Amino acid sequence: MAKKQFKAESKRLLDLMINSIYTHKEIFLRELISNASDAEDKLAYKSLTDDSMGVSRADLKITIVPDKEKRTLTVSDNGIGMTREDLESNLGTIAHSGSGQFKAGLAQDDKAAEDIDVIGQFGVGFYSAFMVADAVTVITRAWGSDEAWMWQSDGADGYTITACEKEHPGTDIIMHLKANADEENYDQYLETFKLQELIKKYSDYIRYPITMEVEDY
Ligand code: ADP
Ligand code: MG
Repeated sequence: MAKKQFKAESKRLLDLMINSIYTHKEIFLRELISNASDAEDKLAYKSLTDDSMGVSRADLKITIVPDKEKRTLTVSDNGIGMTREDLESNLGTIAHSGSGQFKAGLAQDDKAAEDIDVIGQFGVGFYSAFMVADAVTVITRAWGSDEAWMWQSDGADGYTITACEKEHPGTDIIMHLKANADEENYDQYLETFKLQELIKKYSDYIRYPITMEVEDY
């Protein structure tokens, strides 16, 4: 399938994320957990008006899976999921709130792009995954649909969307972490204690349980 290009504005934000020298790259986890929580909220809300869905609030959870062998970190939710159209409009463009605000900040003052501290102030959203990952795969299945879709991007080159399999509704965000470089330690995002620290620091307010799969030693 042909690669699609990001819209110009999205590309600008994406470039900023990919080349980020921001020292608090760790906030990517906050952003992905916040999206997962939003997805659970949307499902919970939908089920309020539709008993037949059989969703119990107690079932809603967020799962974090570090895999040292594959060098991937996965953030999963069993929330509302995305259709193919959702993927296209939500992850291909920057029309959404948090990143839109961020973009507005950049437009006002081009120097803001250098004053990278601005990143911490806004919800920079999904693309912040590219601060720590050189490739991101999203596997998702919308509630009420039996189709699943895979969105893949290495950032600069655009993205592809292909059909795939997924047993349950919800979304997996799979980040392939960048290789360590001078001063930049991406391996730390595969360490359970580091992930626990970040979840406590940034995502303590999340109302859904966040569980982590721990590797055997
Ligand atoms: P924001 O959260 O401010 O809208 P993001 O860049 O974080 O901006 O996310 C963009 C959009 O992508 C979200 O609004 C949502 O529609 C969709 N999205 C991202 N992550 C998920 C997810 N885990 N489940 C469902 N939809 C998601
Ligand atoms: Mg968000």
